Amino acid sequence: MSDHLIEPHNGTLVDLLVDEQEAEQLKKESEQWLSWDLTQRQICDLELLMHGGFSPLQGFMNQADYESVCKNMRLNDGTLWPLPITLDIDEETAQNLNQGDKLALRDSEGVMLAALCVEDLWQPDLTAEARQVFNTEDKEHPGVANLLQNTNPWYVGGRVLGIESPRHYDFTDLRRTPQELREEFAEAGWQKVIAFQTRNPMHRAHFELTFRAAKENEANLLIHPVVGMTKPGDVNHYTRVRCYKAIMSYYPTNTAKLSLLPLAMRMAGPREALWHAIIRKNYGCTHFIVGRDHAGPGKDASGTPFYGPYEAQEMLQQYQDELGIKMVPFKLMGYVPEKSEYMPVDEAPEELEVKHMSGTELRERLAKGVSIPDWFSFPEVITELQKTYPPRKERGFTVFFTGLPSSGKSTIANILLVKLQELGGRAATLLDGDIVRKHLSSELGFSKEHRNINIRRIGFVASEITKNGGIAICAPIAPYEQVRQDVREMIESKGGEMQLVHVSTPLEVCEQRDRKGLYAKARAGIVKEFTGISDPYEEPQNPDVTLTTTEMTPEEAAQSVLLHLEHEGFIGPAR
Ligand code: ADP
Ligand code: ADP
Repeated sequence: MSDHLIEPHNGTLVDLLVDEQEAEQLKKESEQWLSWDLTQRQICDLELLMHGGFSPLQGFMNQADYESVCKNMRLNDGTLWPLPITLDIDEETAQNLNQGDKLALRDSEGVMLAALCVEDLWQPDLTAEARQVFNTEDKEHPGVANLLQNTNPWYVGGRVLGIESPRHYDFTDLRRTPQELREEFAEAGWQKVIAFQTRNPMHRAHFELTFRAAKENEANLLIHPVVGMTKPGDVNHYTRVRCYKAIMSYYPTNTAKLSLLPLAMRMAGPREALWHAIIRKNYGCTHFIVGRDHAGPGKDASGTPFYGPYEAQEMLQQYQDELGIKMVPFKLMGYVPEKSEYMPVDEAPEELEVKHMSGTELRERLAKGVSIPDWFSFPEVITELQKTYPPRKERGFTVFFTGLPSSGKSTIANILLVKLQELGGRAATLLDGDIVRKHLSSELGFSKEHRNINIRRIGFVASEITKNGGIAICAPIAPYEQVRQDVREMIESKGGEMQLVHVSTPLEVCEQRDRKGLYAKARAGIVKEFTGISDPYEEPQNPDVTLTTTEMTPEEAAQSVLLHLEHEGFIGPAR
């Protein structure tokens, strides 16, 4: 490790932004350099690097630091640092880059945010990295999944020359750099500051925990939520920040502050907790709260948690002396109805009931539109969450029909569309196979590749309709299982839900019906790549509804979908 990448760790902050003149000079020179368009994750890392949130790092790690961090949780010079901060680039860029070059780092619009002085270029063993850093290769772990599935094959390391901070247009008054926070603390006379990390909306348990930590330590509080990237499926940060703002009014005036952290989390549990603590030290805090299952990635396929609930606390305890920031450990906080107060479980008398509500139960309650008890959260927080997560009967959704040609998809989908329009309340759109091929995919044919592109386009439109609270009814053949899954994931990644309906009609019956005379043409060889005759149809593995159209009329089929939607809560009582 070259020493110039490390500032002596005496609490000094790294600031990688160059002055205006140098920035202009670099921009001019960059016409001769290669460029790299940063991913969202890389932009988060760059922002933390630039303003010293990652002090003492002065750039993306070189190979020696990377290997040492993966193996020993230390930079090559011995400084404690638990997670790799690397810049991954594609094959083509790597092939054209040499040591000593500069690489222009740009945002998605092409604005040059920084220059990287290329010191090292190598192909990492990502599986080994997963094992060392996350202690597992299991892709159920979101950090591992991201590492193994979304990482480019080359790492490039070297010093960063910062030209411009990544732009944010949201909550700008709540985004403070380490330097700004340090200055604010000094001005306010805050000497002891306890930082609280979170990626979830705060409820009473979090409020009680933070307030107790402040009281017991006679310290001020920094609520420091992550708004960069968190675990997929988390509540979006817009909603969360509105919740945090509401919560701030419950702390005594002048004792607590809210600031947003543009960090990309790795969900690395204990190692991540250590990292969070170092980052908070850089932001001028003296104490850091670590509760139960800090930065926990959840469970593996067999239901076993990846890390123990208090492993993060043990890790910080082990490194407490060299950390330079003090851990404030907390056991799980729960509500004790008998005493009408929150307590850490180990302090609550054994005979008394301690209440908790999991994130899953909260989501279920919101989906059903059931009330959320007062002990669990604050009214303002509940209102915000109810706005973002209305009950299922008011949310958008997608009904995706699949089946052979002439199986009955269009007929049933059209009846369903009419029934849902009669019901009212939500706009509904039918994306019928033929309509889509005319308006969205007119240039596509019927090869597997083209069929899948067509279905992905339908999926994209359906996901947007669903996200915006409408009903999308899709009725393509969609013969391939994988792409049907992809559509479901596309919809779910935007917080929506999809119901897959298999219109299960035997081939002979479809051929008999032959509504458009296409089976006859396929048999005659006039129409090629015809599903069921000269092209495959993969039956859905796990459809939500199966319609046996040989035993029901189209009206009955549409009714059974409607009743299924009612059963799942997508259609509900008017009030
Ligand atoms: P993450 O740990 O992934 O940021 P959270 O936002 O849920 O997830 O938690 C933030 C902090 O609060 C962590 O230190 C966590 O251990 C702690 N925490 C969350 N809920 C509780 C609870 N009910 N009792 C004790 N600690 C908690
Ligand atoms: P697809 O959209 O799957 O190609 P269509 O809905 O265009 O199929 O054609 C199905 C044909 O089968 C229509 O003529 C329809 O009237 C007829 N049919 C007969 N019984 C049923 C049923 N139970 N459900 C749906 N369609 C049926």
